[in-house]
Order: sequence, then structure tokens, then C-alpha cells
Amino acid sequence: MTTTSQKIRTRIAPSPTGMMHIGTLRTMLYSYFFAKQSEGEILLRIEDTDQSRKVEGAVESLEKMIAWAGISYDGEMTFQSQRLDFYKEYVEKLLDNGTAYHCFCTPERLDEMRKAQQAAKKPPMYDRTCCDLSAVDVKARIDQGEKNVIRLKVPRSEDISFDDIVRGRISFSTNTIDDQVLMKSDGFPTYHLANVVDDHDMGITHVIRGEEWLSSTPKHLLLYRAFGWDAPLFAHLPLLLNADRSKLSKRQCDVCVEDYIAKGYLRDALINFVALLGWNPGQGSTEEIFSMEELIIQFDLAKVHKAGAVVDSKKLNWMNGQYIKKISVKDLYRQTLPFLTKKEFYDSTEHSEAFITKLLTVEQERLETLDGIGEENQFFFHDISTDKELLRWKDNSDAETLEVLERASEILTATDEQNWTRKKLEELLMDAAGEKRGDFLWPLRAALTGEKRSPSPFDCAWVLGQKETVKRIAAAIKMLS
Ligand code: GLU
Repeated sequence: MTTTSQKIRTRIAPSPTGMMHIGTLRTMLYSYFFAKQSEGEILLRIEDTDQSRKVEGAVESLEKMIAWAGISYDGEMTFQSQRLDFYKEYVEKLLDNGTAYHCFCTPERLDEMRKAQQAAKKPPMYDRTCCDLSAVDVKARIDQGEKNVIRLKVPRSEDISFDDIVRGRISFSTNTIDDQVLMKSDGFPTYHLANVVDDHDMGITHVIRGEEWLSSTPKHLLLYRAFGWDAPLFAHLPLLLNADRSKLSKRQCDVCVEDYIAKGYLRDALINFVALLGWNPGQGSTEEIFSMEELIIQFDLAKVHKAGAVVDSKKLNWMNGQYIKKISVKDLYRQTLPFLTKKEFYDSTEHSEAFITKLLTVEQERLETLDGIGEENQFFFHDISTDKELLRWKDNSDAETLEVLERASEILTATDEQNWTRKKLEELLMDAAGEKRGDFLWPLRAALTGEKRSPSPFDCAWVLGQKETVKRIAAAIKMLS
């Protein structure tokens, strides 16, 4: 095992199989926090040996997301597919020392074997037909051009144990481990071989990865042993779960980081949220808002939870709202504009920056995603038609409602531009309302919005501006007279 006096070196080893899942973001963040807090290094290696799973554009998307997350890795990004000769060289060593062997079984034969095992209710495992072929035989078959793969010779009836940083002591019986394919017939290494050879070659001290890789670890430990190398330390991160505790699928694209961004979640909020999926500072702390710098200092790999972490979208919305509250209105405007331009109710020729900025000032307190801009308050963007019933507060008469609106109109018409501020409007209208707040404010608010729920009438008047405010009140007055 690696000693702790060594410089810590972690890696991010994504496979370019599609858009980035939030589980991958979490693995990256934890690896990054851990490396940074110990002044270690973090490398980036693209595990692209499975050509059939490769997705066009996935590497670019990974790079983009890594940069977006603010993760700076050390050295150059490497690609396993560009090092095929390197893995060949290493697998030869295993063939030479007898820990790996050539297997000539055809896919059809393997399929029959599996079916027979299934019928006999036995776990599907390679039956080792090719394990003890003589060297002469093997050479002759290779010379004849017979297709073959290279398998690891897994010792039988042994326990492979290791101390996982998160999960503690873990043991697997080798009897449950198949003779893994290390090199495919097309000369491409499998994940297991390439992963172990690279982690060793790159001097990785800590392998941090999702729990779904846990069952691969005994295979990897056998490979380290077969090569005569020390293994790194392992930390397997808990599964991510849906609210109903089912496993969060990798294929569900609504859990892709790009998708969250597209829905209007802020970078810092997403990072904060993802960092807390499986870890929190503990010790009675209820603090939940952490910057990247704070996470680097406070994160503790040894305190990552074993139990699956539920991805709670309500919590994410709450957290995003906290971050939205913290940024300046100017920044909020900049970040919401791309969302706003896609809205049907928005017209860039009609709705000025000043107007949107006012709207955001009012919405900022309650906005949970950037995409939510204007959604709840569309009456700001187009003409409204309010109905008489809505204008009435409790059982007030039309005459009483009319009187209120006329008074409001008078006050607001007399207010000069300088006084058309959030604060001043609130003061003026609250004064006018006196004790009877509902009687005064409700009809005014309904006249301005045509809605049962909306921001306060002062805020609405402020955003709408004097001309539109007076116009809307006049329309309501007309309806009542
Ligand atoms: N390539 C694997 C993945 O896509 C990496 C597993 C590991 O970290 O060993 O997650």
C-alpha cells in the first residue's frame, strides 16, 4: 500500500460516453478537493478504450464542464486510446509470468457456455477451457491467425481484502471473480487493464470513484499483484439516488450537468449542492452554503458517507435561490438574459434593460432558477384584463372599490419621476391605506396585475412605471364606473 508521506496524486478518469452525469461531477470535485487540500496533484485521463461506447463530442463536453467547474488539472489530458502499444507491452509481462493467458473461445462458444450455466442456475463464469493450453499450441493457433483475447488467471479460493477509505474493510472471494478479459481481440485493452496500468504509471496514490466500481477493485488488486506493484488507496463514493431511493440512472439526461445549467442553476450552487451529496462537515454544523475555497479546506474524504445520497431537487432549488439572492442585480441580469430571450412573453424591442433590472430586483428574493424569470409575473410583459370580482376586497361594494382606485390614481399621478422609487411608493401607498390595508392595497394590486397572487402593489407600480400604472388603474376604474 502507498504510504501517506508520498505526495498525494488523484485523477479524474472519465469515459467519453455522453454528457456529464452529476455523479461524475461529484467524483471530480471530491478528487479535486482532496488533491488541493493536501497540495497534491490531480490528473485528467480519458478512458476511451471501449470504442463502441464512444460518443461524438463527449470529450469536448467533458473539457468544457471541467473548465466550467473551475477544476484545474495538472499536466496534459491523456487518452488511453493513444497508448495501445503501452498496454500491449504490459500484458506481455503477465503472459510471461503466467498470470494471464490467451483465450481462443469464440463468442458463439462463450454464449453457449453462458446459456448452459444459466440453465444450471450457476453464475456465468468463463470455464477456463483455454487456461492450460500448451505454449506450443498457443503459438500455433496465433500463427494461424486465430482470433484470441487475453484473460487474467484469477487464483481460486482466496480472499482479496482492502481498506476502503469510505467503506472500511472489504473482502471478496476470488471464487466469484471471473477470469477477466484484459486485452480484446482487436488489440484494445479493457477498462481493467488500462485503468491499473495507467494508475500505476501515473503514480496515482488515491483512486476516488463511484461505488459502481467497487466490484472491479478486487480484480484491480489482483492485477497490481500480478504486476508486482503496490496498489493505490481506494475511496468508493456512495450511490446517488432518486427521491424514491432508486438508483439515479446514468442515462437519465435530466441528471446531466449541462442539463442543470440549461435549466438555470448557477455554477456555484450546483457545485455546492453536488459536493454535499454524500458528505457534510458534520460535528453539529448545519452550515450548507460553501464556496469552492471553503470546500477545499473543509472536505474530508474519510467522512464521506457510506449510505446512498438522495438527489433532492427541492434542496437544489432552495440552494440555487440562496445563490441567486447573493449576486448583484447586474450579474443576475447578465445571467438571466439568455433564458429571458427564449420566453414567449419577452420582446427585446419592447422590454428595456432598465425594466428587466427592476423586475429582477423584485423577483430576486424568491427566484429559484434563472429560467424562472418572469414566469410567475407575466402580467408585467403584456396588457392585462382584470375582472371586476377580482378587484373587490372581501365584501366591499363597487363604489368603495372605485373610490380606492380613484384615490390611488390621484396619488400616483401626482408622484413625480424622482419619487418613483420602491421605497417612496411603499411609503405613499401605505400612508394612503392607513389602517385599512386590504381595502386599499388589494384593489390596487388586482388592477395592476389581474392576478390573485403577485408582488406587492408598490413593487408592481415601480416595475411598470408611472404611465403603465396609471393606465392600468384607469382601465379598472372604467370597468367599475
Ligand atoms: N472510466 C471510469 C468512469 O467512467 C473510471 C472508473 C475509475 O475511476 O476507475 O467512471
